[in-house]
Amino acid sequence: MKLLEERILKDGQVRPGHILKVDSFLNHQMDISFIDEIGKEFKRLFSDRPINKILTIEASGIGIACITALHFNNIPVVFAKKTKSLNLDGEQYTARVHSYTKGISYDVILSRRFLGPDDHVLIIDDFLANGCAAEGLIEIIGAAGAHLEGIGIVIEKGFQDGGKRLREKGINLHSLAIVDSMTDESLVFRKEPDV
Ligand code: 5GP
Repeated sequence: MKLLEERILKDGQVRPGHILKVDSFLNHQMDISFIDEIGKEFKRLFSDRPINKILTIEASGIGIACITALHFNNIPVVFAKKTKSLNLDGEQYTARVHSYTKGISYDVILSRRFLGPDDHVLIIDDFLANGCAAEGLIEIIGAAGAHLEGIGIVIEKGFQDGGKRLREKGINLHSLAIVDSMTDESLVFRKEPDV
């Protein structure tokens, strides 16, 4: 997505540890009309799928998921909550996720009331790196007997292997920008990932 690549080049900052900071427009301060364009693009890319629910993970995926949901005719958004200690009561789906940015593992939970066999799910998130967050959500979809229709990612870090692993599994993954390499001086995008 040309608009996104231009915005990353203009406002993104490369930080130590291969972290790309885009918090001036995407995941801290949010440029809503820009995110609206992102939602519109996800709708275009997944319009052939019978999606009736969007699933994301707190916190940065939520805003993007909500705006995307409006482009899918106001379907519900449900987000997995992060928790440090698990209080299992049998009414939740759980999965363990390792956070690349924070260097810790945590559990994510989702109430069983909000995901089931009738759901055709689009996963939305801001970043894809090693793929742990996406795999945690896929595990929850499997436990719920729901159907994974696709994964929409705003920025994929193509030099980490999450995207490769998910595509090898045959998952319908679309990333709006794929960064193949980045340093303080230069940032290289994969050519036209999903045009
Ligand atoms: P993964 O589980 O694919 O390794 O990482 C995905 C999650 O880590 C995303 O939800 C995102 O919040 C965070 N993340 C991974 N890499 C970056 C990065 O370079 N910049 C930012 N801002 N977040 C990242």
